[in-house]
Amino acid sequence: MVETIIVGGGIVGAVVADKLQDMNKDVKIIEKERKVKQLNSNRSIWAIIPPLCGDLMEKCLSSIDYYVQLSHKYGVIYKEMSVISDKQIGREISMNKLKEIEPDVTVPESIKMYIYERALYLDGEKLLEKLTKNIMINEEVIGYEIKDNKITKLHLSSGENISVNGDVIFSTGYLTGKLFDIKDLEVYKGHLISSSSSFTLNNIFFYNGKIFLKRRSSEVIISSDAEKTTDNKINYEKVKDAVNTVNSIYPLSHRILVSVGFRTASSSKKYVIEKIAENALVITGFRFGFAMAPFIVDEALGLLKSGSS
Ligand SMILES: Cc1cc2nc3c(=O)[nH]c(=O)nc-3n(C[C@H](O)[C@H](O)[C@H](O)COP(=O)(O)OP(=O)(O)OC[C@H]3O[C@@H](n4cnc5c(N)ncnc54)[C@H](O)[C@@H]3O)c2cc1C
Repeated sequence: MVETIIVGGGIVGAVVADKLQDMNKDVKIIEKERKVKQLNSNRSIWAIIPPLCGDLMEKCLSSIDYYVQLSHKYGVIYKEMSVISDKQIGREISMNKLKEIEPDVTVPESIKMYIYERALYLDGEKLLEKLTKNIMINEEVIGYEIKDNKITKLHLSSGENISVNGDVIFSTGYLTGKLFDIKDLEVYKGHLISSSSSFTLNNIFFYNGKIFLKRRSSEVIISSDAEKTTDNKINYEKVKDAVNTVNSIYPLSHRILVSVGFRTASSSKKYVIEKIAENALVITGFRFGFAMAPFIVDEALGLLKSGSS
């Protein structure tokens, strides 16, 4: 059986799996973490805010369509929401209108606020669970063998070797640098903060550089910062700053949960797709990796098709 091996079960690996399965291909994912809950992509706030995609905004809009379809296909909860922002995205909104839409948010009168109406939140943990069915967990790929410009074997941390008879996609995200010397690849740390609030919050907020939204009836999640480092320690100053910023306009409880996650980006501000053998690609997301995964994966798979049998 010819099978595509996907190394890394984050959002990029999961989208590769979905798209290949749609083409009737067999896939196997190898993931070093023990549970979907622990995956780096699960630190994402799982929002698509097209204006934050910069010149890839149109493509991020098409990602919304892709994820809405995917959510229906796999029975995953999603919410089409607006983004309310202190940055000029979309159209200006009056304070009265804001109060009508978000009765429990209090923004200083002196600040102009804007609304952008096409954004999405979805239950990413459920999506990863559903998309990564054929997965070998708790196994890290630590090396590979190449013959005649084709990857023929993968070496696993357990000591086992896996023979490769099809293509290999390395969707190894922030750990790509452990296996490949790809110039330009940068890793940014961010904190995902969760708190509770019994107040209403209907939209995604982008305020003073922090993004926050209500995920469940009482859980608010905040994505706050990005610092160029691979260090996974919590930076309490940054967490305090994020919580205080959100709290200044919307009431949160004192119970805070924090996890650290990573984004990759390239210094040339482009995502990374590299063909490293005739049958192998490296794909990593760029900053808003969840928003961008669908079109990055399409571009990458096109490259594989044109170059391998
Ligand atoms: C706090 C925070 C909030 C964010 N919010 C958003 C958001 O709202 N919207 C958005 O679009 N983006 C968001 N992002 C960015 C998004 O999370 C990342 O861009 C995305 O996770 C990248 O996905 P990926 O699949 O490329 O890589 P990763 O998520 O890094 O996944 C790679 C996976 O591969 C596994 N792996 C790596 N090496 C190996 C190996 N050798 N063998 C086996 N397994 C391996 C890892 O364990 C990991 O699970 C956020 C990031 C952070 C930190």
